[in-house]
Order: sequence, then structure tokens, then C-alpha cells
Amino acid sequence: MHLKSLTVKGFKSFASATTLRLEPGITCVVGPNGSGKSNVVDAIAWVLGEQGAKALRGGKMEDVIFAGTSGRAPLGRAEVTLTIDNNDGALPIDYTEVSITRRMFRDGASEYEINNNSCRLLDIQELLSDSGIGREMHIIVGQGRLDAMLHAKPEDRRSFIEEAAGVLKHRKRKEKAIRK
Ligand code: ATP
Ligand code: MG
Repeated sequence: MHLKSLTVKGFKSFASATTLRLEPGITCVVGPNGSGKSNVVDAIAWVLGEQGAKALRGGKMEDVIFAGTSGRAPLGRAEVTLTIDNNDGALPIDYTEVSITRRMFRDGASEYEINNNSCRLLDIQELLSDSGIGREMHIIVGQGRLDAMLHAKPEDRRSFIEEAAGVLKHRKRKEKAIRK
């Protein structure tokens, strides 16, 4: 499984539809300060279902919609599509290519799609839950977050590792079972 492409349209600084083609292996995004590198990462977190405006470096969720510049009017909606190569069947769905789309309007309503079929956020979360790219999997380490991890208390660091290894959900289930 690898990320194949990311299309952003009306998301943060990307007013016009922009597609980034991603190859297996390492992709580097380079550019001057403020040119939108972190916005690319925010787009990936957002399309995977991120619900916190702060995690996307904004005050409110509406801040992800292109707010306009001196030469260009604001837009009414943001849309991001992430296409994943599923040739190895890592995602439990009968397609070798899976595209996930999220769209949001200024009234706050979000729409989600899997392969152009409208679905719920829950369907996306379930699709990704055992793949290692779900929302809680720490696949995205933002600017400054690395520092936070290095300086974390041992017990917090342990839970980062457990979560990344997929152990945390079992430990939580065990604790729940013992309490009963
Ligand atoms: P650095 O190298 O400093 O980390 P960067 O390339 O990561 O910079 P970003 O943080 O991705 O830069 O982009 C910041 C830019 O995105 C700013 O110019 C900001 O005005 C613009 N931006 C963020 N949200 C919106 C929005 N909703 N509408 C228009 N522009 C936006
Ligand atoms: Mg940045």
C-alpha cells in the first residue's frame, strides 16, 4: 500500500485544483517559508478525517477553506482527494486503487466519499482502522511534534509507541474487561 496522489482544491492556500503525484518511497516537498508545504500535510490529515481545527493549525474548521488573497476571491468549499494504491490488499475493499474524498462547505457540513460513492466518516475510519494510517496512528508528525515526543514523559512516550504498534486498543479492551 502506498499513497498514489493527492488532489487539493479550495483547501487552504490551494485555490485552484492541484494534484501531487506520489511514488513509492520517499517524497520531499520543498519550497520557501509560507509556500504551502505544511498545508499539503494538513490536507492528508483532513481527508483522513481529522476533526480538530487546532491539529490543522486553524482556529475553526472553516479556516481550511481558501480565504482569498488580494487578487483572488474566497471560495465556498474545500475538497481533498487522496488516492491509495491497494494492490497488496492492505485495505479491506475489493479495489486495487482506493480514493477517499472529503468536501466541506462554509456552513460546516462535510461530505465523504470512497471511490466517488458517498459514505460516512465512520466508513472511512473503519476502512483505515487496521491499515496503520488511521487518524490516531501518529502517521503524521507535525512541525514541532518531534520535539514534544522527545521531551514527553516516559509513560506518554510508551503510549505513542503502543498506539503506533497497534497494541493500545488491545490494552484498552483488556482494562475494560478487567473492570467488568
Ligand atoms: P514553513 O516553511 O514556514 O513551514 P510552509 O511551506 O509549511 O512554511 P504553510 O504553513 O503550509 O507554509 O502555508 C502557510 C500559508 O498558507 C500562509 O501564506 C497562509 O496565508 C496560507 N493559508 C493558510 N490557510 C489559508 C486559507 N484558508 N486561505 C488562503 N491561504 C491560506
Ligand atoms: Mg511548514
